[in-house]
Amino acid sequence: MSSRFWSPLVQRLTPYTPGEQPHISQLIKLNTNENPYGPSPKVLEAIQAELSAALRLYPDPEAQRLKQAIADYYGLTPAQVFTGNGSDEVLAFAFQALFQPSAPVLFPDITYSFYPVYCGLYGLPAVTVPLAEDFTIQVADYLRLNGGIIFANPNAPTGCLLEVAELTELLERNRDSVVVVDEAYIDFGGESAIPLVARYPNLLVVQTLSKARSLAGLRVGFAVGHAGLIEALGRVKNSFNSYPLDRLAIVGAVAAFEDHAYFAQTRQAVMASRAELALALAQLGFAVLPSAANFVFARHPQHDAATLAAALREQRVIVRHFHQPRISQFLRITVGAPTQNAALLAALAQILGEG
Ligand code: PMP
Repeated sequence: MSSRFWSPLVQRLTPYTPGEQPHISQLIKLNTNENPYGPSPKVLEAIQAELSAALRLYPDPEAQRLKQAIADYYGLTPAQVFTGNGSDEVLAFAFQALFQPSAPVLFPDITYSFYPVYCGLYGLPAVTVPLAEDFTIQVADYLRLNGGIIFANPNAPTGCLLEVAELTELLERNRDSVVVVDEAYIDFGGESAIPLVARYPNLLVVQTLSKARSLAGLRVGFAVGHAGLIEALGRVKNSFNSYPLDRLAIVGAVAAFEDHAYFAQTRQAVMASRAELALALAQLGFAVLPSAANFVFARHPQHDAATLAAALREQRVIVRHFHQPRISQFLRITVGAPTQNAALLAALAQILGEG
């Protein structure tokens, strides 16, 4: 038995399944919400400049330059910023450092599927709170005893946005546990909760450079919150891995925050393509949820989603499908570059025409 030497914890785990990274040539890859545009040329220059004999030296364990760049960008102090190896790592530390096992952690029934995995890893009880019929988060449903609250905003895989006013209402009425807002997709049209950290010492906002800053391959995420929350994350990090960000990641991420023009241009391009894609999908008969992210979540009333995903794959277009209650008839489609979106739409038109 291959699991003979596994610890009891590992025997019990149900790990997360990342979106596929296939090695198929000429693929239209719309399955993991990567940015269709490359990172800023200034990021590449900064990384090139760092490629030197200095790689023999460890990086700054606290990534101070990056914390300062993020603090400057949002008008914070570096003590309010934590950085990590992708927001997945930052989220994992938040679960371990800030959620209490004495009451269930609350998150939506439909949200980022890593949250239940972290609960399993850290032995935290969890309760899922159903989204409303229209897939929106209802703040009133979270007003109960809890060991912490987490959701993605915009939510994933729905793309639906919770307005800051609603979030403020939740923070007003939930003072005794930490609320983590996972803003992986916030820069595609939502309003960030970061300004609220000054008022609510129990709010942690987590973001990533993987999406709007086109750096999924560099693995940089960060959290913003009251210095006390940030210190807790640092305690976990320094009990686990002192150097989660390497030298290339630190300089690349700093350059990404400094290139305001490139960031504005590429996120505008993605948002414009999203509007066009949503419209074109609607014209093909899809029901498309309103999205504030770099993907759309769509369902065709006459066509099974898993079958559509398989047919698209035959045409070298990959999208994400979740075998999960309530959303098994939806496809999550990353907004690609205009030519990629056109290829997706052409493939869909053909498949629907045949069916
Ligand atoms: N949160 C959400 C909602 C996501 O969809 C993702 C991407 N899979 C992440 C966090 C993690 O992103 P990363 O680790 O690349 O920062």
